[in-house]
Amino acid sequence: MNTAYVYLQLYRLFDEITPVPTDCGRLCKKACCKGDDGGMFLFPGEISVYKLLGPDWIKTDKTDFYYEYNSKRYNVPIAFCSGDCDRYQRPLACRIFPLTPYLNENGTIEVITDPRAKRLCPLAKAFFIDDYDAAFVKNVKNVFTLLAKNKQFFTFLKAYSEYLDEFRRFYD
Ligand code: SF4
Ligand code: SF4
Repeated sequence: MNTAYVYLQLYRLFDEITPVPTDCGRLCKKACCKGDDGGMFLFPGEISVYKLLGPDWIKTDKTDFYYEYNSKRYNVPIAFCSGDCDRYQRPLACRIFPLTPYLNENGTIEVITDPRAKRLCPLAKAFFIDDYDAAFVKNVKNVFTLLAKNKQFFTFLKAYSEYLDEFRRFYD
């Protein structure tokens, strides 16, 4: 199956299910959509969604962050928006924020609060994982458990978790 369609299917899991049952954007005036540095990583293969749909509110670029798979280097793409988007096309990173997958030392996928979110998101600052909507946490876990069955995605997740460790040391 085309990777773009896989992501588009997974996106649906977060169309109605959000971190909390109320509109948390009212707490913070949608701080996560207004960061100066903006930008969210696109997960492996996710850029195909935006190549397919071609929305005018998103721009993509490459980052310096990379992982290696089968002796090839993959720079992780990043997406930038103007602070506005089509909700039904927003990237996976926006849908799971302020949570993120994390591959622990046993090779098991955990769902954690994204340490990068702690500087701006009231939920990330105050909530434990159990405080989020259980269906939301479960969907995050299921999506990344599924994606990580792909060996390249698993390799990315390992590098991504090491990248998060740098922030965890600082923010936790
Ligand atoms: S996820 Fe956090 S930063 Fe984003 S709208 Fe909700 S409370 Fe605000
Ligand atoms: S793509 Fe949408 S949800 Fe994501 S940061 Fe931009 S405005 Fe917010």
